[in-house]
Amino acid sequence: MAMLISANVSYAQSKKETVDKIVKEATENSQLENLAHELLDVVGPRLVGSPLMKQANDWAVAKYATWGISAKNEQWGEWRGWERGISHIDMVYPRIKSLEGTQLAWSPSTKGKAVVGEMVIYPDLPDSVSFKSWLPSVKGKFVMFSMNQPTGRPDYNWQEFATPESFEKMKSSRTKQTDAWRSRISKTGLNLKALALAFESAGALGVVTSNWSSGFGVNKIFGANTTKIPSIDISLEDYGLLYRLTESGHKPKISVNVGSKELGVVPTFNTIAEIKGSEKPNEYVILSAHFDSWDGGTGATDNGTGTITMMEAIRILKKIYPNPKRTILVGHWGSEEQGLNGSRAFVEDHPEIVKNIQVVFNQDNGTGRVVNLGGQGFLNSYAYLGRWLSMVPEDIRKQIATTFPGTPGGGGSDYASFVAAGAPAFSLSSNSWSYGTYTWHTNRDTYDKIVFDDVRSNAILTAILAYMASEDPETTSKEKSVLPVNARNGEPGSWPQPVKATRKGGLN
Ligand SMILES: [Zn+2]
Repeated sequence: MAMLISANVSYAQSKKETVDKIVKEATENSQLENLAHELLDVVGPRLVGSPLMKQANDWAVAKYATWGISAKNEQWGEWRGWERGISHIDMVYPRIKSLEGTQLAWSPSTKGKAVVGEMVIYPDLPDSVSFKSWLPSVKGKFVMFSMNQPTGRPDYNWQEFATPESFEKMKSSRTKQTDAWRSRISKTGLNLKALALAFESAGALGVVTSNWSSGFGVNKIFGANTTKIPSIDISLEDYGLLYRLTESGHKPKISVNVGSKELGVVPTFNTIAEIKGSEKPNEYVILSAHFDSWDGGTGATDNGTGTITMMEAIRILKKIYPNPKRTILVGHWGSEEQGLNGSRAFVEDHPEIVKNIQVVFNQDNGTGRVVNLGGQGFLNSYAYLGRWLSMVPEDIRKQIATTFPGTPGGGGSDYASFVAAGAPAFSLSSNSWSYGTYTWHTNRDTYDKIVFDDVRSNAILTAILAYMASEDPETTSKEKSVLPVNARNGEPGSWPQPVKATRKGGLN
């Protein structure tokens, strides 16, 4: 009977055996938990230009070496070097309370001592002239210039428990308040950055914001706008406390001790790992995930999970499929958060690779199972992605909605750097697990938010897609679809064009 099996069936059969081994290795010998612990807990967040980013680059190269996979750190640019230190923020009057808050990335330090002062709320002034005459009053004070949120409960919580009338009332008064706050700021004639610098020049002790992320206990933590005085973000709860005490005339004082180090201009890297192809070494299957993060949490889901997915996938491939036909390369990009800089630089620096890309798979929207895969406008993507997906186990494949040929992404994550260069690059898009509210760029993007079963499923999916892409007898078609006419302006749709990487950043 065996002799009668057709060539096709035996091809599928041998593929199936490898796929089964991939699933077994991922399930029975998962390294995801270890990788997450070492990267997120031991190394920590990975702000561009920070020593921890470089530590992560070095950790990955060393980890790959233990798996017998060659890897290197490839410099693509330079950035302002800054190292986060302590953030100790306490209310010291009218009573003592340690506050939940942190300095923003690149905040100036308080030079090893605590700075104590009263709060002042940026008032509603009629115009830029009155703003200028009010400005000297910030001298020696901490300036609060975020709106005080009317509720610390997320809308879903109101939806569940409030009366409909009460929920509507809260929302409409919040909208009014938000509009009024926006106009309060805009009447100064300055944007937020210029405003922070104006407070600084006028002798403020620091600027205090609360960038609430609309969920329980979550704030987004981005970069500072000040150059001499600290920029700190305080949790909604503690910011509200200070705000109300200030409004009611109780003159609260806070003590702020934030440390940080300026490290000059430092080199910044992509970490590149690869298993050389045995038949077509100059054709590339690229697994892609940015390595950097914001630093309010540890970048667990943005993009620790994408990072460990790609590491785990290639680890499994090295073990099960050590001699791929095409080269399998993992790109751990730097400075995605400031504009896809690491991947754009890679595309610029490696035209020889980019023109020979079989496929790029990028993952960068959280810890969830992959549920969407679009064709990015590549006309024939349906054929090869469909062929490869057909080997993915049913329980993983059935969750993935596909869109062909789809539309090319102009940004959002690193696949766009490749799409803009005409390379077939795709986004393995996850279900949300409340990513936008709770983990994306927040202080709560930490190890405990990882859903390891979902990440495991993604590692299996990625390893199988990479395996099938490497084995495929056909080189992928790069033919682009004609994009539909833009409904708003009647212009023909146009494909995204490459954008230059910022090679020297954060210096102003
Ligand atoms: Zn990201």
